[in-house]
Amino acid sequence: MFTGLSSTRQPEVPARSLRRAIVLGGSVAGLLAARVLADHADEVVVVERDEVGEDDAGGRRGVPQQFQVHTLLPAGRAQIERWFPGFTGEAVDRGAVLSLSHQVQAWADDVAAVQAPNVVLLSESRTFLETLLRRRTLALGNVHQVNGVAEGLRYRDGRVTAVRVGGRDLSADFVVDAMGRASRLSDWLHDDGWDRPELERMRIDVNYATAYFRRAEQDPPTGAAISRFSPHYRKRTQAALTAVEDMQWMLMLTTYGADRPAPDLDDFRARCADLPGLFQDIARQEPVSEVRTYHQADARRRHFDRANRLPARLAAVGDAVASFNPVYGQGMSSAALHASCLSEYLCAGPDLDRPATGFFRSQKVVVDAAWDLSTSGDAQRTETTRPPFPVRLQRALVNQVITASTVDLRIATKFNDVAFMLAHPSTLATPSVLLRSLLVNLRHRRSRRAVPEPAAVEPVPVP
Ligand SMILES: Cc1cc2nc3c(=O)[nH]c(=O)nc-3n(C[C@H](O)[C@H](O)[C@H](O)COP(=O)(O)OP(=O)(O)OC[C@H]3O[C@@H](n4cnc5c(N)ncnc54)[C@H](O)[C@@H]3O)c2cc1C
Repeated sequence: MFTGLSSTRQPEVPARSLRRAIVLGGSVAGLLAARVLADHADEVVVVERDEVGEDDAGGRRGVPQQFQVHTLLPAGRAQIERWFPGFTGEAVDRGAVLSLSHQVQAWADDVAAVQAPNVVLLSESRTFLETLLRRRTLALGNVHQVNGVAEGLRYRDGRVTAVRVGGRDLSADFVVDAMGRASRLSDWLHDDGWDRPELERMRIDVNYATAYFRRAEQDPPTGAAISRFSPHYRKRTQAALTAVEDMQWMLMLTTYGADRPAPDLDDFRARCADLPGLFQDIARQEPVSEVRTYHQADARRRHFDRANRLPARLAAVGDAVASFNPVYGQGMSSAALHASCLSEYLCAGPDLDRPATGFFRSQKVVVDAAWDLSTSGDAQRTETTRPPFPVRLQRALVNQVITASTVDLRIATKFNDVAFMLAHPSTLATPSVLLRSLLVNLRHRRSRRAVPEPAAVEPVPVP
């Protein structure tokens, strides 16, 4: 099912069945949902609380994470390219940087890792990406954006009929919640007598600090880099570097728990001193921003798929459904895959007067894949009790694969496909992948090359 959902083929779109669809929230997930709805509705209205112009998404309140590094995983790029053909080329023309595998460097516990050929990263700031998505979406002709705060829903005969915006009712044939992780849709549903989707949370306590530096080279030999550590390694500050638009570098540090980077260049540079030389070199360049910090206490998901009583003609996408530990870089790609789930649902000609169960069911497949990968890594860092044997066995095997992926191209390619959300995690659980991983790790330990111990390596982040 995951393979079908991540297809990049253009869908066969039936005749439009909706007069007006409304998307609540005009950020990455909302804009991609609007793109899909534009195939199915005469008019699509994006309701966005912040005043964002077509050419400027920067400095807005609704997206406090906007200044931190945002990696677009290959699956996200493939889906965005599906909905907006030529998007990558346009992004590069406007200053984004496309890095191929030989332009990406990675270290695991200070040991350089191999780079498989499927590492292709489009680097740009989140604001740049959102602006480009907004421009493309609003150019569709039947999509427009209104500035306003969504305050609630209206219903008739078991289905959503309107959205309350700024004290007025805006009628709708279909509504999509894309209001991010703080979405109030669950409260609205509960207050209006529907089921409140169950909220699942996992404590992560991740800390970010990001600073921008001047970039001298148009095409630097390395366009993206990452340094990650296993939970028990003596060092604590991990880092990701990406070349972004406007001839800048974006350098991000992450830590966990009480060890929070300060919003201060001296602290930032001092932390970089512990990293491979590339990061230190960039941190010595001229800064073009202050150091901005961000803390995220939990990963969370809302189980719409488990709710028994939901109104018809309602869906939810993006962080409003699942917001992960950001170091795994899954958020925007998940949002893009949710848009594809919405397309698949609407193209199948569902009975729109029944709840969108089919949509939430296929979205769950995407959410599960991302959630399982990231929370299993986080659980190994945070849990205080010994998990049951089957969980320990499964983790031990996954850790073998992750360790082998730092030294073996074939395993790295397989693992990247999963980490990049191009393939389902179950594709790693095959005898050939597991056996090869075990043999590779055994050989490398024997050959006394400095590779990290399998059980210790954390399945993290992408640059
Ligand atoms: C520190 C950090 C780093 C991250 N790094 C990455 C990364 O490397 N790669 C990646 O893919 N993802 C990353 N993410 C996740 C990514 O930011 C989100 O997944 C992505 O922005 C999609 O979010 P969204 O559109 O669902 O919600 P948001 O971006 O949160 O947008 C919600 C929108 O809804 C609007 N809104 C809210 N309430 C209302 C209302 N009542 N009425 C009208 N409008 C409303 C807001 O103004 C906002 O525009 C990161 C997140 C964080 C916190």
